[in-house]
Amino acid sequence: MRGIENHFLSQHPEKDSEWSEEQWKALLDLLIKQGIFNWREVTSLALGHLNPSQVGTSIASNKNFQAHFPPRQTWLNVKKWYFNQSGCCADCSTRLELQADHLIPKEIVGAVTFKVQELVNSGRINTADAVAQESGAMLRTELQGYTEFLRDRLKTGRGLPEFSESLQSQIAMGIYRCVVNNITDRKIIEGVADQLSNMVLRCRRCNVVRRPSHKNGGLAFLTTEAALMWILFVKRPQRYSDFEKLCRAYGMTMANIRFQEAWAMAKWLNQQGSYEISEDCQYY
Ligand SMILES: [Zn+2]
Repeated sequence: MRGIENHFLSQHPEKDSEWSEEQWKALLDLLIKQGIFNWREVTSLALGHLNPSQVGTSIASNKNFQAHFPPRQTWLNVKKWYFNQSGCCADCSTRLELQADHLIPKEIVGAVTFKVQELVNSGRINTADAVAQESGAMLRTELQGYTEFLRDRLKTGRGLPEFSESLQSQIAMGIYRCVVNNITDRKIIEGVADQLSNMVLRCRRCNVVRRPSHKNGGLAFLTTEAALMWILFVKRPQRYSDFEKLCRAYGMTMANIRFQEAWAMAKWLNQQGSYEISEDCQYY
């Protein structure tokens, strides 16, 4: 068994982002050969992640979306929008784990609204026309900043999202309404982003990567839970402390309880004699 692993590892680049399809297949073959899981299990898991996301719940049942349609017409419209999508992630083109996501994020709608409200409150603008103009101009500026952020963050080789003129003016109109009606509730303001024309399908990973709060989003290639197992099965650290270092080096910033949970896999495999843990490991 160790012979297979050593041979296998020597052929693969250090970084998972440089692995070829053949090399990923070899890892899967190895895990199946080792009895970690079988073909039926892994295929069933992939099929489950292929099933289109539940927009009936996430979009059609959402009051913000419903507000744009006559009573009982929301699902009809959501369905039409859904069927017309490509069925691939807008960023990386995978078909797996797709979720409906906003083109213009809620955070930007909130930020622009509060900035325009500040201009009104400080008396720097005082007509409805000026509010409309500032809403559009500030949204444009914020979106430019967001595009810069994404250019830096996304290394997918795909084009950056485009914010059409009609989408921008639709969102700016919503911001304008919030400002002239003196709405200060963040939830209601951010609800402006909840419009079908502002929705797109993205995979779970690409959704996470573009969140400004996710510090190292662009660095990581796999999702956290996948990367934890990749490090364990490919790098095979023999000490928990080394595992934690590898996780940090991969770009993971979360509390180390996640690493300790993942280390359970090393312990379980060690019980069966298929994973080596060094005697000086703190969790030997
Ligand atoms: Zn994606």
